[in-house]
Amino acid sequence: MNKKKLKILLVEDSPEDQLTFQRYLRQDQNHIYHFLTSETGDEALEICLAEEPDCILLDYNLPDMTGLEFLAELIEAAGSMRFPVVMLTGSGTEMVAVQAMQSGVQDYLVKDKVKPISLVQALHSAMEKVEIKRKLEEHRLALEAKNKELEAFASTVAHDLQVPLRGIREYAQNLQDRYSPMMGHEDQAQLNYMVSASNRMSRLIEALLAYSRLGRQSVEYRPIPLNDILIQVCDDLGARIAATEAELIIPPDLPTVYGNATLLNQVFTNLLNNALTYHQPNIPPRIEIKATPRDRFAIIQVIDNGIGIPRQAREEIFNIFHRLHSSDRYPGTGIGLATVKKSVELMGGEVWVESAPNQGSRFYLKLLTQPEKEPSAVPAHQP
Ligand code: ADP
Repeated sequence: MNKKKLKILLVEDSPEDQLTFQRYLRQDQNHIYHFLTSETGDEALEICLAEEPDCILLDYNLPDMTGLEFLAELIEAAGSMRFPVVMLTGSGTEMVAVQAMQSGVQDYLVKDKVKPISLVQALHSAMEKVEIKRKLEEHRLALEAKNKELEAFASTVAHDLQVPLRGIREYAQNLQDRYSPMMGHEDQAQLNYMVSASNRMSRLIEALLAYSRLGRQSVEYRPIPLNDILIQVCDDLGARIAATEAELIIPPDLPTVYGNATLLNQVFTNLLNNALTYHQPNIPPRIEIKATPRDRFAIIQVIDNGIGIPRQAREEIFNIFHRLHSSDRYPGTGIGLATVKKSVELMGGEVWVESAPNQGSRFYLKLLTQPEKEPSAVPAHQP
């Protein structure tokens, strides 16, 4: 069997400890170890960048810097933390070691308790953890690229569909205006269907375009008072609110959230629009908004007295084009809640619903009230 060769960088200022750790690792019969050694942080940094070791064994106390400072400098020099690191501390410095784990170290060992087997195990598990993380990151990037590609595709298709559709709508409308009075009942119905179907398709394409634009345009985030958003949204929906005789209960002291006004406008427009649409027959919609603080977030509830949502559909309704009713019964595109979800997630929040058939629905929005923490110089990788 071909043994795998491993290049290990030992950052350790005690020559005896260096030799001990090399001896311990050589007891592992399954690998061939090649050691690079350095007694100072500065020199170790240079070796790291030039030699790309498979793993670093890092003493916490170096003559020119601490292990934590070494990690911070390594991240600054290498762009991100891509090396597996096992930290070696003296006893009594475990607190420091925990801090180191939060800074990207995969494991730590207390020097005078370290055994050959524990050193070998720590080293291999550190390498495995970093490899898994690397693969996950690779998948995440590939997925992100695929999503971007799909969104660009949807946007192009939607644009291209608008042009012929506009033609169909205009000609159908012309025919209707000119010849409808001369047509028989059945022909009139067919022409009416053609006009309304093409209008529906146009609304669908518009919504799809707006959806695909989300996340592809850079948006600015800042503090936005939610009452300002709701005044605007209620104003835009004024005609529908009046037509459905809806009752709206909106407290005047809703919180200020950290987000984007356009995205928030879309979120509340879609949620209120749905609450106005999916009301029980002969019962006017009653929509209430509530807000409660939770840590760095505000939990906003949009509560309606409508037809409700079956338990098994509570997650699916946030998928694009997922509708629970036919367009004849309730008009819609099936893009509204997907837009809500994407907008909320772009702002670092979450959305979910609690509901049961005929019991109304309660949509929850978890929105940031302060900016997310600036990424620190040393990213907090949890091992
Ligand atoms: P659309 O309303 O255009 O169909 P949405 O994505 O906004 O699309 O909603 C998806 C589906 O979720 C709707 O078709 C409807 O069945 C259900 N739904 C959304 N909001 C509500 C609500 N407030 N009450 C009951 N059902 C709802």
